[in-house]
Amino acid sequence: MTNMIDGQGRHIDYLRISVTDRCNFRCHYCMPEKQKFLPHADVLDYSEIALLANRFIAHGIRKIRLTGGEPLVRRDIDILINDLGSHVQAGRLAELTLTTNGSRLKQFAPILARSSFSRVNISLDSLKPETFKTITRGGDLDQVLEGISAAAAHGLRIKINMVALKNENQSEIVAMAEFCAANGYDLSLIETMPLGEGVADRHDRYIPMDDFIAPLRDRFELEPLAHRSSGPARYWNVAPLGLRLGLITPMTHNFCDDCNRLRLTTDGKIYMCLGSSMHVDFRTAMRENGMEAVDRLLQQALRLKPARHDFERQLAEPDQRLSRHMNATGG
Ligand code: SAM
Ligand code: SF4
Repeated sequence: MTNMIDGQGRHIDYLRISVTDRCNFRCHYCMPEKQKFLPHADVLDYSEIALLANRFIAHGIRKIRLTGGEPLVRRDIDILINDLGSHVQAGRLAELTLTTNGSRLKQFAPILARSSFSRVNISLDSLKPETFKTITRGGDLDQVLEGISAAAAHGLRIKINMVALKNENQSEIVAMAEFCAANGYDLSLIETMPLGEGVADRHDRYIPMDDFIAPLRDRFELEPLAHRSSGPARYWNVAPLGLRLGLITPMTHNFCDDCNRLRLTTDGKIYMCLGSSMHVDFRTAMRENGMEAVDRLLQQALRLKPARHDFERQLAEPDQRLSRHMNATGG
């Protein structure tokens, strides 16, 4: 067993698995219109993902989130969903969750519920069909809203993720908060991060969180909550709506002190931090040298996990930006 304590003394028990870098949307802050995707031979197959997940669970990972790209566009994803669900049912895993754009959620909601997924995070940057279509470059808002309702109807807890975009969805923050409160969904707001080349210029779209939520503060009372998830969000109760609001502010506040996660990419690398290119290659180790090599690499990954990200410098100095897009690492 590896001691899942990293070089900074943080306890790591959360693994995010990006199951595909492909997506049926092209959100302008996430990837360019003509994105190149990984060749199939580089992508971990389901038995490889399952083997790695087993190993990590044996070492102490207690929570797994599937993400991407869009996890629900990968063919036969229900195989992996079922496999991971068996770990929850056997008590080996405490929580199984999914981040999705919601477009295929109507079809998958019953499968997720049967496989012991407890929560789903859905990206929803706008409640206006045209704005939604523009941001996602073609997404159908109604389809996503139907997916969200289906997930809720199957008993999955819902969190809406909204990326703060200056002059684009800035005017919708109050409407989004009211929509989430009325339906019993949580809402997380995310500052756009400077990841990837060829995506929309963040200097045009980036807005500090305090400015984005100003209309909310004008209308409602924001009371700090003690609640902490395993993520970087800080939580507030929006009174009197009774909405739990998470603020994810990688640009204006650093959230790294209690980071508890590793990220497994579609091609089998572990990135120790979203804001760093440092990684270890589990796919090569597993394919060439077997699971003992995987154990050694896991220890190395934990030792090398950086103390903090450096997005502020990457925003200020474009030549320092990571060329990797969010869909490659998994959001
Ligand atoms: N396709 C799924 C979805 O959209 O929820 C899962 C993957 S997506 C990469 C995960 C999350 O990352 C989404 O909530 C998305 O809004 C967010 N995201 C993507 N690019 C981002 C960026 N440059 N800055 C901040 N958040 C970003
Ligand atoms: Fe696809 Fe999600 Fe990226 Fe949008 S944010 S392009 S839905 S992976």
